[in-house]
Amino acid sequence: MTRPNEMRALAKTEPAEGLDMIRAPVPEISHDDVLIRINKTGICGTDIHIWNWDDWAQRTVPVPLITGHEFAGEIVEMGRDVEGLSLGQRCSGEGHLIGKTSRQSRAGKFHLDPETRGIGVNEQGAFAEYLRLPAFNVVPLPDSIDDEIGAILDPLGNAVHTALSFDLVGEDVLVTGAGPIGIMAAAVARHVGARHVVITDVNADRLALAARVADVVPVNVAEEDLAAVIPSLKMKQGFDVGLEMSGNQAALDQMVETMTMGGRIALLGIPPGKSPVDWSRIVFKAITIKGVYGREIFETWYKMIAMLENGLDVRAVITHRFSVDDFRRGFDEMRAGHTGKVVLDWT
Ligand code: NAD
Ligand code: ZN
Repeated sequence: MTRPNEMRALAKTEPAEGLDMIRAPVPEISHDDVLIRINKTGICGTDIHIWNWDDWAQRTVPVPLITGHEFAGEIVEMGRDVEGLSLGQRCSGEGHLIGKTSRQSRAGKFHLDPETRGIGVNEQGAFAEYLRLPAFNVVPLPDSIDDEIGAILDPLGNAVHTALSFDLVGEDVLVTGAGPIGIMAAAVARHVGARHVVITDVNADRLALAARVADVVPVNVAEEDLAAVIPSLKMKQGFDVGLEMSGNQAALDQMVETMTMGGRIALLGIPPGKSPVDWSRIVFKAITIKGVYGREIFETWYKMIAMLENGLDVRAVITHRFSVDDFRRGFDEMRAGHTGKVVLDWT
């Protein structure tokens, strides 16, 4: 391609609320990188934290920084050592940049590398016309996965990683938190053969969205008694598997309370700080708890693309689409808390 000198990008330019559209140099790539022209990006809860400039963002994000980590685009430049990819290849990619020297990486457990750095959080991100990415991180997209689905594979990957933490076949599954990731996790649980999938929230719009995306039982725990749902579904005991997707203390308490003996819980939701846990309840119920971070590199990507190719349909979780010129509207809608995924178009 004839390489432009400059590109548009959404960046944190000063330590304060908001993001600005800036002109930035098109990134130079190194011998094992690719340059990706970005077509679509997803706005993540993480981007909202960065927009709001909360305590976590202030501690974590360097200024200035181009933000964003959920993207789809196509390869327009390749470093001289890149193999197995080609110019014009449509792709998404893993936004966690890993080291190669830790014990975990050397064992092939890339998602557990303690040196992980995130694009759009610690390193220059994907809210831009061009993104530099190590070729290792590129995930080619089949023709059947278009760019807007490609742009939400990162959060779908969080959902898939969490949902596939435990065997769900024939199991009764509770998902707490009907944000975009909880809704997609519920859809995955249904797709892989769970018996009942119950999803809770306190936000009626999001529960309605969950019911549009997947065949799930929505429960508004601000108004309904979750324990009463168990006999109404003819479940004998409690839930076999819990997927915590809210980060809310009350939701985790309620999950522990409604689990069966020997139940298994995967925690993706991030509580805002320390929160009290009734550990004796967990011990006496012999519950297994697993923390989940990111996506398994690249097994989660393989599984989610395979599931999308054989009928998993999460498109309805995208509720808002904007040109990047209207990024402020996209962020405003997200911050109001009634959206599913919001996708920005850079083309
Ligand atoms: P989100 O904030 O959009 O959704 C969370 C939902 O939980 C909201 O709809 C909220 O109304 C609901 N909620 C609040 N209180 C509740 C309660 N008592 N019971 C049930 N639901 C309740 O978040 P998201 O983007 O879907 O992400 C889900 C969670 O996963 C967040 O906590 C996010 O920070 C976290 N996350 C973790 C990772 C990771 O790698 N571990 C990656 C991405 C996101
Ligand atoms: Zn994200």
